[in-house]
Amino acid sequence: MTFDVTEVRKDFPILTKKNRGKPLAYLDNAASTQKPRTVIEKLSKFYCEQNSNVHRGVYALAEEAENEYHKSRETIANWLGVNSDEIIFVRGATEGLNLIANCLSKGHLKDGDGIILTDMEHHANIVPWQLIAKEKNLQINTVSVKDDGSLDLDELDQYIANENTKILSLCHISNSLGTKNPFESIIEKAHARNITVVLDGAQSAPHTKLNLKNINCDFFTFSGHKVFGPMGIGIVYGKKEILEKLPPYQGGGDMIDQVSFKETTFAPSPQKFEAGTPNVSGAIGLAEAITYFSKFEISELSHHENLLLETCQNVLSEIDGCHIYGKTQGKAAVLSFTIDGIHMHDLASLLDSEGIAIRTGHHCCQPLMEVLGIPGTARASFAFYNNFEEAERFVLAVEKAVSILR
Ligand code: PMP
Repeated sequence: MTFDVTEVRKDFPILTKKNRGKPLAYLDNAASTQKPRTVIEKLSKFYCEQNSNVHRGVYALAEEAENEYHKSRETIANWLGVNSDEIIFVRGATEGLNLIANCLSKGHLKDGDGIILTDMEHHANIVPWQLIAKEKNLQINTVSVKDDGSLDLDELDQYIANENTKILSLCHISNSLGTKNPFESIIEKAHARNITVVLDGAQSAPHTKLNLKNINCDFFTFSGHKVFGPMGIGIVYGKKEILEKLPPYQGGGDMIDQVSFKETTFAPSPQKFEAGTPNVSGAIGLAEAITYFSKFEISELSHHENLLLETCQNVLSEIDGCHIYGKTQGKAAVLSFTIDGIHMHDLASLLDSEGIAIRTGHHCCQPLMEVLGIPGTARASFAFYNNFEEAERFVLAVEKAVSILR
């Protein structure tokens, strides 16, 4: 379907909302995205017409809910180019990374093994590994970030060459810098040393054409709310042969084969990893979001987002004392910046009074902020429904902030 931002905006009811009496310009898409009407209607339809628990009922309503739930897994799997039994429903990327770290720890890692992370990771891709590292005496090595926001690939090579290294977990796209990591060559090198590769796809899923079989990562996770779907739902993709060997994440109903006090056996994956009543409406809503989003040519969406980014970045880079973090070629549409003499929260408050929503702070990347030597940044992040009028209002408001606040 041809992309036309004016038409697309009509699909997102919230975009007509006012913010402090001004038209809302929502530029916080790296934190969460807005939902198209079709997703909202799908959720409403589920609760009005289909609501029932899954895997438990023989009645028609339960069958309908279950069919919808299974269809969602298939839609998501097709979109990612993988098999549906390689898709595990979770609450989001955070739970996904916790699941991956915990199951690998129990089923794959031993004392003294090494894990590679990078300095640009979100806390969700740091803390779960720290928790298992403490339990199992694992060594975490972190790859440095260079001045332009790219990874120090020589340092990464050294860690990959370390024979204790068993896991490499890194973000596909950085939420603070927009950097797109060169995962193809990284994965190839890691696999040559039998290192399991986990990609945190929280920021790439809404901006990239994904074919996980071609990417060849061992695990991938993302959150539904960042791809125009509901909150509280996300997925973990894991290669079938690895999932089959891993122990469950949590215990409970739905993840078992037989339970007895003598011995309990587990269902095959992905059910083995989905204990308890799942987020059925969330899964259905996520599949609907993906169906909506994949009507468009993703390269057209990225091109549009990148033009918005360039427009804003060009103006901001002319402002005296404005520092932009993340300058790699082809980065995602994330604009992180500070302005000397202006506190980021004051800047964000002024923008808020103009109807413009941006984010400020460490963006759950405190180790990265430490490397950059700053407490945080102001961050504008774009989605395909943002338009040039919003970009223009954003840069004018930043210029106004500079003239008032400094
Ligand atoms: N990883 C990255 C790169 C992120 O940007 C985020 C969310 N900001 C997460 C993980 C965690 O996602 P969630 O809070 O949806 O679980």
